[in-house]
Amino acid sequence: MVLGRGGYKFQNWAQTYGSSPELYFQPTSAEEIKEILDLARQRSKRVKVVGGGHSPSNIACSDDFMVRLDKMNRILKIDKEAKQVTVEAGILLADLNKELDRCGLALSKWSHLKSWLKLHALNKSHMDLSWALPKIL
Ligand SMILES: Cc1cc2nc3c(=O)[nH]c(=O)nc-3n(C[C@H](O)[C@H](O)[C@H](O)COP(=O)(O)OP(=O)(O)OC[C@H]3O[C@@H](n4cnc5c(N)ncnc54)[C@H](O)[C@@H]3O)c2cc1C
Repeated sequence: MVLGRGGYKFQNWAQTYGSSPELYFQPTSAEEIKEILDLARQRSKRVKVVGGGHSPSNIACSDDFMVRLDKMNRILKIDKEAKQVTVEAGILLADLNKELDRCGLALSKWSHLKSWLKLHALNKSHMDLSWALPKIL
């Protein structure tokens, strides 16, 4: 069973916004995310996912439940032929870029912020990067 931590203080990257979630979760599976959502429903709490915390707004802040997906950061599948990569939603672009580089692939977007940002997969536990391109040297 996934346990939420109390007393966590969130600050965005620029430290311009922050919040004190009642419970802070770092799930490791889709099952655990389901448990968090069930608990939130029972207690009528809102749930916010936080990625790299790099947004210049307070969009990731919540005083209810916060979920950080840094323990769901695996690369699930790389299909070099189809140029498709399937990853979990918490992967850092920096980590993804390293792996893509090893395979001769690269993203067509996101350059200078690669160390900070996470990929977003709204309402999904992983996203399909079919837009990964062959690396241009
Ligand atoms: C100095 C600076 C430069 C920037 N430059 C660019 C730029 O060049 N191009 C650009 O596009 N953006 C840029 N941004 C904006 C930045 O890319 C976005 O704010 C982005 O959302 C940050 O990603 P994050 O993972 O840190 O998200 P967070 O700040 O952690 O969260 C932002 C939102 O995404 C949601 N979210 C986060 N992770 C997930 C997930 N895995 N699944 C579902 N929802 C999720 C959160 O709930 C929240 O609503 C810049 C920001 C700064 C501060």
